[in-house]
Amino acid sequence: MSATAVTRGGTPYTPTYAESIDPKKCIGCGRCYKVCVRDVLTLVDRGDDDDMDEDDWDDEDAKAMMTVKNPGDCTGCGACGRTCPKGCFTFVAA
Ligand code: SF4
Ligand code: SF4
Repeated sequence: MSATAVTRGGTPYTPTYAESIDPKKCIGCGRCYKVCVRDVLTLVDRGDDDDMDEDDWDDEDAKAMMTVKNPGDCTGCGACGRTCPKGCFTFVAA
């Protein structure tokens, strides 16, 4: 069963929460981090991930990528996904 929330006006909706960020698409721009009002996202060094082949990255010069560090703090507002220029986010209902 999905969690249901209500708007201030009382309209019910189903929040969807930040689940993951596609590391191949992310350019590390930080837009999502700036709009998030919770402690959910963090930028990590791409060099730390041995599984990544930089030929697969959309931006080979990107030095960092965003990750979902603390998914349990997400309110499901969706702002990060709306602001991401690369469509990196996957969201799930609770
Ligand atoms: S959905 Fe909202 S709270 Fe969750 S990570 Fe994105 S901006 Fe932050
Ligand atoms: S807005 Fe998108 S491209 Fe920019 S850091 Fe966040 S996930 Fe990566």
